[in-house]
Amino acid sequence: MAQTNDADRFLIEAIRGGDQRAWHQLIERYQGRLLAFARSRLRGVGDAEDALQETLMGFVTSLKHFDENRPLETYLFAILRYKIGEVLTKRQRHPEYTEGFDIDDDSPGLVEPSVSETPSRLAAEHERTERQADVVATILRRLIEELRDRGKLEDLQVIELLFYVGLRNKDAAERLGRDEKAVAGVKFRALGRLREFVDELQADDRGLLDDQQVSSEATIARVWRGRRLSCLKRSTIGSYLLGVLEEPWLSYTAFHLDAVKCLMCRANLEDLSAETEQAPEVDVTERMFQSSVGFLSYRG
Ligand SMILES: [Zn+2]
Repeated sequence: MAQTNDADRFLIEAIRGGDQRAWHQLIERYQGRLLAFARSRLRGVGDAEDALQETLMGFVTSLKHFDENRPLETYLFAILRYKIGEVLTKRQRHPEYTEGFDIDDDSPGLVEPSVSETPSRLAAEHERTERQADVVATILRRLIEELRDRGKLEDLQVIELLFYVGLRNKDAAERLGRDEKAVAGVKFRALGRLREFVDELQADDRGLLDDQQVSSEATIARVWRGRRLSCLKRSTIGSYLLGVLEEPWLSYTAFHLDAVKCLMCRANLEDLSAETEQAPEVDVTERMFQSSVGFLSYRG
């Protein structure tokens, strides 16, 4: 997965220095996709703009915790998902999860970056879970990249349905129009590769995986989703919209958006299609900027 790109890195650098224009720019850059995501999760339940506002404030007040080895977009989505989870819990109502695919769990990767004091035992536990998630992500990423490099995107689709969505072999086979035995074969080979990758890990990292729970399917799914291991690049979604994406990426992109129904990638899709149709929501940018900029100068 890509690290924070140079443009984002530059923005964050400036924001850390208290640059208000940079903060405005960051809001402009990300508000569309974040708002689209919030609206998809909070349809008729809560105010998507409130969730966006809290996300931006959460981000700006926890900037010092932001790790540039993780993509900014993923980090912002993680905070937003946490905020949305709070709204949904508060109202004790649940949206229809059937519409799209997203997490309704407490993934360790999704713990709110907080400025408040955390008791040290909890902090240590959190750190261990994070390190475990890092190791799981590392080996899953290797598998995904290997399948991509070898052009085995159809196999990647199988793995994604099994590991990420959590379908059974039979259902995955049906969904993809493939033979159930073939699906089982793909899974068998993937598990074999994962075991080899685990063997190649350094002893410390391997030790982190000993915990039974870490290798459970639930953890794998949570890490895969939380780290967005097979999510599409925004530029890929843009090409898809323009109709210039070629096979096999075209099929894979359609699969991730329509079969997996990844809500974060769909939010990007929606944002990008809105961009070509109408002017960006300037009002929203201004409201978001006004409500959060005070935190910026206060900390700057
Ligand atoms: Zn995605």
